[in-house]
Amino acid sequence: MKPVVFLDRDGTLNEEIGYIRDVSKLALIKGAAAALKRLNEAGVAAILVTNQTGAARGYYGEEHIHRLNDRLQELLALEGARLDAVYYCPHLEGAPVDPFGIKCQCRKPEVGMVEEAFAKSPDLDRQRSYVVGDKSTDVELARNCGAKGVLVRTGYGEAVLKGEYQWKVEPDFEAGDIVSAIDWILTDLGARKADAGPV
Ligand SMILES: [Mg+2]
Ligand SMILES: [Zn+2]
Repeated sequence: MKPVVFLDRDGTLNEEIGYIRDVSKLALIKGAAAALKRLNEAGVAAILVTNQTGAARGYYGEEHIHRLNDRLQELLALEGARLDAVYYCPHLEGAPVDPFGIKCQCRKPEVGMVEEAFAKSPDLDRQRSYVVGDKSTDVELARNCGAKGVLVRTGYGEAVLKGEYQWKVEPDFEAGDIVSAIDWILTDLGARKADAGPV
């Protein structure tokens, strides 16, 4: 069984710049690819779970969400890193564009994307799962799916920690960025292995 890290996209892996209409504007946060590569090499699954409401709001079509996610994979690949799977929620209740304006089960902090990943990949270890993100909804997702939650200070994270957004659930760890988040996760996984003792 593989440990798994569910990763938010905007503000966590790439710079938060609002709705990204121009694919070329997508830029990785410093160190993100190298950090992800450490997960890849440690045999820890790295899975993107992202809320993307740009199509629901009519800013662009759903295919643009794919282009952005593909560009992210491309930038990661340039540095030898990869996401093992990509899930996005295109929904937003009440948004104007059909068929996205619905109340769904996948918009974070709902667990739909995480449950789909577990269903599709039975080798993922639910007992050793983590969620990393820059919003309180990412930490709530962690709570809702029984994972450990890590809040990064990049993106909206700093503002969340300052109390500028509603703060419902405490993270298991507050990280400066994705690099220190993954440091912490790999250390935590190592400690759990030690706890298990000799087989
Ligand atoms: Mg985010
Ligand atoms: Zn959804």
